[in-house]
Parts: sequence; C-alpha cells; structure tokens
Amino acid sequence: MTDRELLAAIQADFQTAYRESRKIQALLRRVQEGSATYADAQAYAVEVSRLIGTVWQRHFSALSDGQAKSLAYQLIPSVLDGNYTMVRDYARDTQAGLNRRANIGLQPQTPPMNTDRVEGLQTMVGQAERYAEAEPGLISGMENFTQNVVDESVRRNFEAQGGAGLSPKLIRRADAGACSWCHGLAGVSDYPVMGREVYRRHKNCHCVVQYDPGDGKRQDVHTKRWTEDAAPDKIEARKRITVHPDRNAAKTEERRTASAGEARDFRFGIQFFAKPSSEYPTIILPKSEYAHVMSEIATHMTPDKEGKRVFHALIGAYRYTVENNGFGDYRIIGKVQIDGG
Ligand SMILES: [Zn+2]
Repeated sequence: MTDRELLAAIQADFQTAYRESRKIQALLRRVQEGSATYADAQAYAVEVSRLIGTVWQRHFSALSDGQAKSLAYQLIPSVLDGNYTMVRDYARDTQAGLNRRANIGLQPQTPPMNTDRVEGLQTMVGQAERYAEAEPGLISGMENFTQNVVDESVRRNFEAQGGAGLSPKLIRRADAGACSWCHGLAGVSDYPVMGREVYRRHKNCHCVVQYDPGDGKRQDVHTKRWTEDAAPDKIEARKRITVHPDRNAAKTEERRTASAGEARDFRFGIQFFAKPSSEYPTIILPKSEYAHVMSEIATHMTPDKEGKRVFHALIGAYRYTVENNGFGDYRIIGKVQIDGG
C-alpha cells in the first residue's frame, strides 16, 4: 500500500463518519446559525480528532509495524492539515458570529498551521522503536494539535480586539476531573494577558478556553484620544472598527446569508484537506499595478468580501485572487487574464 492509497482510504472513511456524526451535525448547525461559541469550536476539534483517530487506528492496525511506522511518518502532515483547515474555519465562523452579535466590525483572526508541532509528532514516530509504542501518544498528540488551533484562534482574536481598544474577556473553564494545574489556570481575565500559559493544555486536557467580546461596548472608542499614546499601527487598527447601528439590520442579514452559504460548502467537506491559502506564494506585481490593484480592492470592498479569507477581484483585464488577512492587509496569491473579447 502506498501513502496516497492509504490517505485516500482514511479520507473516505473519515468523510463517512463525519457526515454520520450527530455531534458534528449539531455543531455545524450552530455555526451556520451564527450561535456557536468557542466551547462548540473546542467540541468540534475534539470530535474531528476522535473520528480521524478511530479511522486512523483501524487502517494502521492492518499494517506491519515497519510499514505503519513509515506510512504514519508520511501521512501525519496531510492528516493534520485536514484537521487544521476544518477547525480553523469552524473557529473563524464562530468568531464571525460572536463579532456580529456584539456589533464588532473586525475581521476574525485565524492562526497559521503550526508546522513545528507537526514535525514534533513526526519525530516522535520516527524515533520510536516500534510504531505500536508511539501510536497512543500520536493519537492524543494529534488531538492536542487540533485543539490548539481553537486556542490559537481565541488568543489571536483576544489580542486583536484588546489591541484595538475593545474590552474582550478570556475565560478558561476547567473540565470535570481536571488536574490541579488546570484548576490553577481557570478563571476570567481582562486584556492584556501576560504570557501564554492560559492557552496551554497538556495531552487529553478538555478544558475550554473561551473568548467573550462582551456586550460589544467599545471602551470609549469614540471619545478616546487615540493620537496621544498609541502607535500608528494601533491607530490605524482602531480607525477600522466600523460600527453603523442604523444599518445593522440590513448588514446582519446580508452577512448571515453570506456566511450560511459558506458554512454549507464547508459542511459538505469541500475544504477537507484543501491547501490553505497561506501556502500559496505571493504574486509580485510591478509597483504601479500593485498600487492600482490595492486601491481598487479598497474602493470596492463589500461586507461579503470582508468576511472571506480569500476572494476574487476583477480589475482591468485580470482576475486577482486575494488572501484577506484583516485590517486592510491583502496579499495577492493569483492572477489570471480574463477573456477580453
Ligand atoms: Zn485541562
């Protein structure tokens, strides 16, 4: 059996288990309705990990130990890329719902894939004498990696919103039967939080790290003198917080529709194992073209595009693919000529 054949078999079985899971169905409904919390995102990460872990163990148990070891080493990055993509998107849509409910016009922040952790798990398998000895640690390590995608999403959004002058709260709740280390970390924190310990979790830790944008009250954002002590980049970030209470009803509806459409695609697993946009290289444009493209994008920005990680822009004779990193930070990752006829 080749690594590609095994990967395809694992993917197919996972897709079936995923579609049939009631838990996944309920969690996807919540994110589609825009009512998901980070506890749901965490539950989603755990369930995705459980399903893939079961399928993985079933397929690997049919291999010789030597074959299992070498195939595991090769498959870890692809499988974790799949987990990463699904959970990153679930967390992003969760954050979009939280922002919407709190009337916060900021983009959800998403973490990049943590390749150090992926390599760490590969090394662990590579160094084990027998694959069978490494497997339990690998399965719980893959779950831990997947949960970390949610924790990192929480951290990035908490930092971005706190940094932009909002007053987010970080809530860590200990799981039933949590260890004393976890109980010590439980509690509610205001921005800023020093260090990253509150986001850390040991293997098999099912504590929940939640983020609460609060009631959407922006801490004196309209009256505060931004210019006094803030760095220019922070002023820019604050300026971009857009709140239009009078237009809320229409906008909310518009965004909900757009996000429900995305969630539907997501539900059918189209993005499963898809290459994340961050893996596409930047297309370098000549200076004047770059300036023109950026100005066109800024001029024609819509809430629908704002909520998308990747969107297309038709400018002149070209269709550009744009990676949206929030705060007006766009990266061109594709350019194709469109038929001028
Ligand atoms: Zn814990």
